[in-house]
Amino acid sequence: MKFNPEILKIKDERMQPFIDADEIWDIINNTVSERSRVKEVIAKSLDKKRLTLEETAVLVNTTDPDLIEEIKAGARELKEKVYGNRIVLFAPLYIGNFCSNNCLYCGFRTSNSEAERKTLNHHEIVHEVEALEDNGQKRLILVFGEHRTYTPEFMADTTRLVYSVKKANGEIRRANINAAPLDIEGFRTVAEAGIGTYQIFQETYHPEAYKWYHLSGKKADYNWRLTSLDRAQEAGLDDVGIGALFGLYDWRFEVLGLVRHTNHLEACYKVGPHTISFPRIKDAASLNIDDKYMVSDDDFKKLVAILRLAVPYTGLILTAREDHDVRKEVLQYGVSQIDGGTKIELGSYSDTHNEDQNLNKEQFKIADARSLSEVIDELIDDNYLPSFCTACYRLGRTGEHFMEFSVPGFIKRFCSPNAILTLAEYLEDYASEELAEKGWIAIEKNIRELDESVVVKVRERLDKIKNGQRDMYF
Ligand code: SAM
Ligand code: SF4
Repeated sequence: MKFNPEILKIKDERMQPFIDADEIWDIINNTVSERSRVKEVIAKSLDKKRLTLEETAVLVNTTDPDLIEEIKAGARELKEKVYGNRIVLFAPLYIGNFCSNNCLYCGFRTSNSEAERKTLNHHEIVHEVEALEDNGQKRLILVFGEHRTYTPEFMADTTRLVYSVKKANGEIRRANINAAPLDIEGFRTVAEAGIGTYQIFQETYHPEAYKWYHLSGKKADYNWRLTSLDRAQEAGLDDVGIGALFGLYDWRFEVLGLVRHTNHLEACYKVGPHTISFPRIKDAASLNIDDKYMVSDDDFKKLVAILRLAVPYTGLILTAREDHDVRKEVLQYGVSQIDGGTKIELGSYSDTHNEDQNLNKEQFKIADARSLSEVIDELIDDNYLPSFCTACYRLGRTGEHFMEFSVPGFIKRFCSPNAILTLAEYLEDYASEELAEKGWIAIEKNIRELDESVVVKVRERLDKIKNGQRDMYF
């Protein structure tokens, strides 16, 4: 069957649900993955065009190992050609784990009476942010449970507090949020605090499966969550992140769900999501789900490569839920952001005496507990360019991923110079001597790849950084 987007049974309308589960299954079940078609689809993506649902289904239905290798090679090529070698770094900061929902997969669920509940107070937030700044972090994602005390005003005040903390040369230049869906007014309130991206994961796009896992609380309302980022757009918050929690339902369905969500936002608001996240379920206190839909490492690697090809100009986020080896491999397939030095127990960045993971204090178990400097060290060894850049969003260049992708030379003139400058700041302020030496060699190597028109300016700014000036960007 050739699937024609014109015949989608559900038309895209603002703030209206847009998932038809039968239709997505029809597309998956009726799309044949022939060799020539797989190659055509990969070629279309390399031509910088977003894939349709039918084309994405061609890729998810591919089982031939040689063709899967071609999909991965296509994703690698797209990443190298289009995005270059930058990897943006961030860290999550858990603000509070009170929660009135009962998501079966989450340690914060209301029925987990063993969970140690806490909301960081003003001083604790300051200490956490100072500790993060002392590590060299510049970009955070603030994480909240869903609870009546975590109002939009509370989130906005928390964001302002985070931005106000400045220790030595440290500062947080971008605070994103991962929290519950809000109404339009609520999104307006958090937008006014200058947040970066607002992330909400649908968890599973399958409405029936969604019911299995969300038994009570506000989150039980599938459509309220599905349309949440429409409301963000209506509020003028156009920087949004979507995601699915892989392991709740068939991964192929979720990949098409993510693509459908992307084309819904594009159809209604002319801007797709800024980022897509694809967490896999990890062990959590009182985890209570069947392992029927758990995603193997091989399928996970394949699905990341498919997402890269399906939505070529959307950022892909890979978190420390995955272990070191999986992260190292999957980075090649087009991931643009990772976290480093991650701790998810409340208050744990400033608590240097407690290095153990305690499931009663955490939402789930992370698998890559390396420090930020270890992550940066390895990125440099693997020829990536670690970046803390926040320039586009601060200069009002919204939709920056789209620009990277569509404006010729954008990466060489803006992204790579900014990555180099932010890495230089990190090396000057936070790196060991050994890492600094390695990092400056990497900077020299990356300068050679820049657009000639910016090399002199980059060198001037690097000199200024060495003399103590900070926060310069293109
Ligand atoms: N409470 C808000 C919500 O549910 O949207 C936001 C924060 S929640 C702490 C962030 C995300 O973590 C969830 O959307 C879910 O996808 C993910 N998550 C929850 N339990 C998990 C687990 N056991 N393993 C991996 N990821 C998990
Ligand atoms: Fe609460 Fe979010 Fe955990 Fe669900 S996933 S129990 S909403 S913190």
